[in-house]
Amino acid sequence: LELYNMQGWGINYFSINEKGNVQVTPSRDGRAIDLKELLDELQMRDVATPVLLRFPDILDSRIEEMYRCFRQASVENHYQANAYTIFPIKVNQMQPVVEELVSHGKKFNIGLEAGSKPELHAVIANNTDTDSLIVCNGYKDEDYIELALLAQKMGRRIFIVVEKLNELKLIAEVSERLHVRPNIGIRIKLSSSGSGKWESSGGDSSKFGLNTSELMDAVSILEQNDLVDCFKLIHFHIGSQVNKIRRIKIALKEAAQFYVQLRKMGIGVEYVDIGGGLGVDYDGTRSSNSDSSVNYSIQEYVNDAVYAMVDASDKNELPHPNIITESGRSLTAHHSVLIFDVLESTSLPKWNKEEVLSDEIHENVRDLCNILNKLSQPHLLEDWHDALQIREESLNLFSLGLLDIKERALVERLFWSIAREVVKMSQRLKHIPNELEGLPQRLADKYFCNFSLFQSLPDSWAIDQLFPIVPIQRHTENPDNYATIQDITCDSDGKIDNFIVTTNSSQTLPVHSLKEGENYYIGVFLVGAYQEILGDLHNLFGDTNAVHISLTDEAYSIDQIIDGETVAEVLDYAQYNPKKLVRAVETWVTSSVKSGRITAKEGREFLAIYRSGLYGYTYLEKE
Ligand code: PLP
Repeated sequence: LELYNMQGWGINYFSINEKGNVQVTPSRDGRAIDLKELLDELQMRDVATPVLLRFPDILDSRIEEMYRCFRQASVENHYQANAYTIFPIKVNQMQPVVEELVSHGKKFNIGLEAGSKPELHAVIANNTDTDSLIVCNGYKDEDYIELALLAQKMGRRIFIVVEKLNELKLIAEVSERLHVRPNIGIRIKLSSSGSGKWESSGGDSSKFGLNTSELMDAVSILEQNDLVDCFKLIHFHIGSQVNKIRRIKIALKEAAQFYVQLRKMGIGVEYVDIGGGLGVDYDGTRSSNSDSSVNYSIQEYVNDAVYAMVDASDKNELPHPNIITESGRSLTAHHSVLIFDVLESTSLPKWNKEEVLSDEIHENVRDLCNILNKLSQPHLLEDWHDALQIREESLNLFSLGLLDIKERALVERLFWSIAREVVKMSQRLKHIPNELEGLPQRLADKYFCNFSLFQSLPDSWAIDQLFPIVPIQRHTENPDNYATIQDITCDSDGKIDNFIVTTNSSQTLPVHSLKEGENYYIGVFLVGAYQEILGDLHNLFGDTNAVHISLTDEAYSIDQIIDGETVAEVLDYAQYNPKKLVRAVETWVTSSVKSGRITAKEGREFLAIYRSGLYGYTYLEKE
């Protein structure tokens, strides 16, 4: 538990039980689901790994937590307006996820945010209550605006948030034509920015929103079109995963002044939409020094939001604005766990201590053997430098034909065994020398795992996002090995070599040695935000199987099994027609049989394999 800092990032949802398996505790009542037992059941039901496990009860618990925090902050600050949670579907557009959020969030009046025209199509067809809010962000054309305004005419509470001045002109035209009084929001470019990986989403040079002089132009356009009373909302978003609460406080203060100033101009703004930004403590360190962490809690974030609005309004004798939060990462990250199995492992060569060197052996081999035997802490670096130099010299000698292939193999085995000893001894030193820092990673075993980094953990590849990674079973045994994770794409970027661990080196994951005939499952946690939709089809590895598991009085129930994509489906994305492919292969087989290159039986077998493969899983399958 300590080794993987699970207590830090697991926040009571994830822990290890007495059987040594990772367990999930989706709700606060303490009922737990043993992940290893769940995976054994899924295996019996023929649901293959890689598999994405979704726990809707965690979604529910996150929504409730957000509401609880707002309730507490409202009481403490005597807040007299309403706080709304809006789920921006860009964070996870998967229909079952949105449906769960909407159905559980109904009693909390949860709303949805669309950031594009296709997202709006999904959002307005969702079964939210008619008084829950829909916020339309993103760049808009006439169709987008028309769709939103007609939905409003039919009774939905829709806000169209202006990102660019020309959208306002379009809104004016379309609303006049449709005879609708639109609910207009304006996205404001704050000079404050967030902190962390998405820092550039906010600030003067950010991509979105109106600067103050454009905001004044917008007010003039509204006046010219008799729409000033429709301007009801201001919005800002300073970036996702803001890791420092100070940046959020500064932005809130600035935004509250926009509210005050606009009200003083006689504009009836009623809502301040504070966007997203509420971060997730992926590494569990609660530290502002890490992009994968945050130095604040949900309660602190919400307290600051409510306080900033109450304080500015009270000082200026204005009504409190309603607050809208669009923080989707914090709602969804915890609810999904990706599980994959380890296919095999590889290690660097090892020296067998029993081995006896012949008298004629090359002196470099003998020298390395001597270094290995006399290695000691006081001369550690000196011995290591000698080993490096002898190895380099040996490789040169091999290229010149002066060292034979068997001797080269001995050099390899001795050199990597020396390296292992050096790392072991260096860990007892107070300060590990710089030049040894990358060595644990080079020495680690490679665990080849049945998944695609590009499909299932795109942010790990694209922006070096850290996710907690933990073996699912055998925690009653101490991990006896260190590994990096390699996926099954033909891409050397398809690997993970940075982990959340409390050991000296974060470049390797503590794991157990594999046992013949036993599945070894590894889980990647907190993957519920952004990963599914950003994933791509590199090497044509498709969506994984997904399973929804919820708590019941007895234990748990498997509510839904959503099959991953088949080979035919991913080929279809690349514009292959599976039927045409089968035809082409049939023609080829027929001519091969006719010409006698294969028998009719072999032809039939080949066609059967080809056809069934098209409808199989894109990942490696065990017989
Ligand atoms: N609202 C807007 C306008 C966004 O662009 C985003 C994402 O960046 C969000 C909300 C979601 O924010 P978060 O990832 O912090 O939940």
